[in-house]
Amino acid sequence: MTTERILIVGGAGYIGSHAAKAVRLSGREPVVFDDLSCGHEHAVRWGPLVKGDIRNAGAVRAAIREYRPSAVMQFAARIEVGEGEKDPAHFYDNNVAGTLNLVRVMLEEGVRNLVFSSTCAIYGDPERLPLTEDLPKRPVSVYGRTKLMTEQMLEDVSRAHGLRFAALRYFNAAGADPDGEIGEEHEPETHLVPNALKAAAGLGGAMKLFGTDYPTPDGTCIRDFVHVTDLAEAHILAAETIAARDTNLQLNLGAGQGRTVMEVLRAVERATGKPVPVEIAGRRAGDAVALYADTTNVTRELGWTPRLSDIDTVVSTAWAFHRKAWKLG
Ligand code: UDP
Repeated sequence: MTTERILIVGGAGYIGSHAAKAVRLSGREPVVFDDLSCGHEHAVRWGPLVKGDIRNAGAVRAAIREYRPSAVMQFAARIEVGEGEKDPAHFYDNNVAGTLNLVRVMLEEGVRNLVFSSTCAIYGDPERLPLTEDLPKRPVSVYGRTKLMTEQMLEDVSRAHGLRFAALRYFNAAGADPDGEIGEEHEPETHLVPNALKAAAGLGGAMKLFGTDYPTPDGTCIRDFVHVTDLAEAHILAAETIAARDTNLQLNLGAGQGRTVMEVLRAVERATGKPVPVEIAGRRAGDAVALYADTTNVTRELGWTPRLSDIDTVVSTAWAFHRKAWKLG
């Protein structure tokens, strides 16, 4: 019997590499397709790497013909919100046109199952919390619009051409592989947990704290931090579910708990045993006050529950990875 394969587009990146490990642990072979523009070759450890750009139909087709995957997971995207505002064309090209190209080749080659990385940024500033999937989609960033537009494109293509897809609307992915093999390595890093760890470690000075005057208990924004390994496991369940039930899914994927930025800083102090030096800065453009998921649907549809998403496990696994990566001993 041949091993089932899954093509992991963007599998050298943060979430994609954790998904590759989860795919391997599920008994399948992860084949990573990545142009290494943001991802890292050293994060591809559980199967072959095909270097290529999703906008290149020939390269995608060659990978699919060589490996004949049963499903594709699509993580490749530009994600930095500020960069999207400065260079929207680049975002639409990578995120929307890139995914359209991928899907076209998949269908031509008879691969029908897709798990797509979406985001809670498609909702914009929600009128109600926790966030349920039926809330209005009013993204306030180019990034959010590229993801919403791609979901709409997938709905249309699915209706006309029989694509099956799961769009997983991530909240704040954080933490690192509990075995310490891979972690978060963005360049430049804009995310809260690695930035707070870096500041606590005495690397790069104080962390900028974006806004302490929000209408929340301690004045800082509220987010839903979901462990990247929990997130990765949801992709396996999603791929299995859309194939078994011949259905599409559009699901919020968070831990279902809101944490303030300040609470995360306290968790970083517990994990590192060091204070986090902060510089109070103004609000960051485009930040919503509070975002956290209603997890009813993801639990019901996938049978998924987070195992590692309590804030201390999120932060301590990230710290274990970064200590090694930053050679702190
Ligand atoms: N944040 C911060 N300093 C940083 C990075 C993030 O104060 O160096 C805040 C940010 O304003 C937001 C929260 O932490 O309220 C989470 O931001 P992140 O960029 O990690 O994720 P986002 O929610 O924007 O996807």
